Amino acid sequence: MISDVDLRHLRRCVELAAEALESGDEPFGSVLVAGDGTIRGEDHNRVASGDHTRHPEFALARWAAEHMTPAERAAATVYTSGEHCPMCAAAHGWVGLGRIVFVASGAQLAGWLAEWGVPAAPVAALPVTAVVPDAVVEGPVPELVDDVRALHHRLHHPPGPSTGN
Ligand SMILES: [Zn+2]
Repeated sequence: MISDVDLRHLRRCVELAAEALESGDEPFGSVLVAGDGTIRGEDHNRVASGDHTRHPEFALARWAAEHMTPAERAAATVYTSGEHCPMCAAAHGWVGLGRIVFVASGAQLAGWLAEWGVPAAPVAALPVTAVVPDAVVEGPVPELVDDVRALHHRLHHPPGPSTGN
């Protein structure tokens, strides 16, 4: 069940995704929340440097491994604007983080890219549970999917002089 608290954290993820897009990165944002509800970290995509492993879920998993006990990690929730890719899902599983709540699924994102004629990502859009079978995962969250879709649409259709496509 998605609660009002979940929605609040997911809205922050969408804001972070928008910030990423504004700074030339891809629109993905994530928030790490401890079991007691404390926000422990947030990050957005940072691939503009050319390092395409700089995903927020991966950064938060590594931060959690350094700064949280195994019990704290298991009780934590990772909120994210887009479902973890297989790399981030694996990192999440390896460090023993808890519940995942995402706005848009990997399958939805892959579908949008195909619809827009954008080349598919080089890594398969597997569901988190295909990588981490015991993961507790919730999403998509329809209330916010259109917002995330709009950010990705902007990434692939930047404003500017019309080029006829
Ligand atoms: Zn990822």
